[in-house]
Amino acid sequence: MKFFDRLTSDLTTLREAGNLRTLRLLPEDTLNLSGNDYLGILNDTAFREGFYDSLTGEDRKLSAASSRLLTGNVPAAVALEEALAQAYGTEAALVFGSGYHANTGILPALVGPKSLVLSDKLNHASMIDGIRASGATFYRFRHNDLAHARTFLERYAAEYEEVFVMTESVFSMDGDCTDLEALVKLKHDFPNVVLYLDEAHGVGVFGETGLGLAHAKGVHHEIDLLVGTFGKALCSTGAFVVCSSVIRETLINKMRPFIFTTALPPVNLAWTLYVFRALAGMTARRRHVLSMGQRLAEAIRGKGIACVSASHIVPYVIGENDATILEAQRFRQAGFYVLPIRPPTVPRGTARLRFSLSAEIAEADFERLLTLFQH
Ligand SMILES: *Cc1c(COP(=O)(O)O)cnc(C)c1O
Repeated sequence: MKFFDRLTSDLTTLREAGNLRTLRLLPEDTLNLSGNDYLGILNDTAFREGFYDSLTGEDRKLSAASSRLLTGNVPAAVALEEALAQAYGTEAALVFGSGYHANTGILPALVGPKSLVLSDKLNHASMIDGIRASGATFYRFRHNDLAHARTFLERYAAEYEEVFVMTESVFSMDGDCTDLEALVKLKHDFPNVVLYLDEAHGVGVFGETGLGLAHAKGVHHEIDLLVGTFGKALCSTGAFVVCSSVIRETLINKMRPFIFTTALPPVNLAWTLYVFRALAGMTARRRHVLSMGQRLAEAIRGKGIACVSASHIVPYVIGENDATILEAQRFRQAGFYVLPIRPPTVPRGTARLRFSLSAEIAEADFERLLTLFQH
């Protein structure tokens, strides 16, 4: 059948270009430097057992049995949302099945006929899908260039009822950070700006109590939609937005990936809340992982390679695909699992290894990692 021929031929094209994606298992005896378990919670057995020991009643259930709007609105969901709203000092919070659900669903539920969207060029695919699904007019500003976003606002803001400015606090590919003071300034200078900030890589890692970069900078109350995920530093699954009550109520009524999906299992919501409550006490882990990020970036710059990272995510740009794969193998042989990232995920000629550090990494292992850069 033509259908299968087309699929096979498309896959062959991908394979020949070296771009075929495959599923693999993490090799044994390697340190994972490509995961998102930033605080090293995943393998912390004592912490996990402490959670299981504390688990009682309804929180032990493994399924919510339906969506939140039917019978899936369990006490753990309510408690988690209360804890989030209280911690961020917002009127409300709403929890979702994943960050992908959040970013694909929030914007389509909120846009009107006279909404404009401005989006950072390197925003996560889930945000791009949400923008497309919303049907709103949108422009992409140059990566991490809020002056460029401002030129769009100067030109178009007055023509629209509201302008959503969407960006990430810590960018997933390069580990660089948005100037959040400048972001908030846009809102002060243009009264119809609505700020939408994805803190998927900021929550847990940044801030005195781990609430993310906006909280660290004291500007979180200026962010209209602060989205965080539980699958990364919080070592769980799901996502949240902290926002006003009117936004929360609108999402409950209009957001399709909230309405038409089974609620997260109570046991999982209880685990997320358990980790969230422990976040404030994980300052040493935050310091460790951020300090490693800084030292790794310095080692890379020491080789004369530009590195924009200001976080625990550190790109090591090599350039050519083949050389990058060889470097990944060299690290692998030394016991460090770090995946090469190639075009089209990143611009042509900027193939790289993307280090995604974890507080789990012992100082001795990290120092051994640094010696691999002395080649
Ligand atoms: C990982 C990620 C998401 C998706 O979150 P999931 O909970 O894994 O679906 C959204 N935004 C950004 C910036 C991310 O890095």
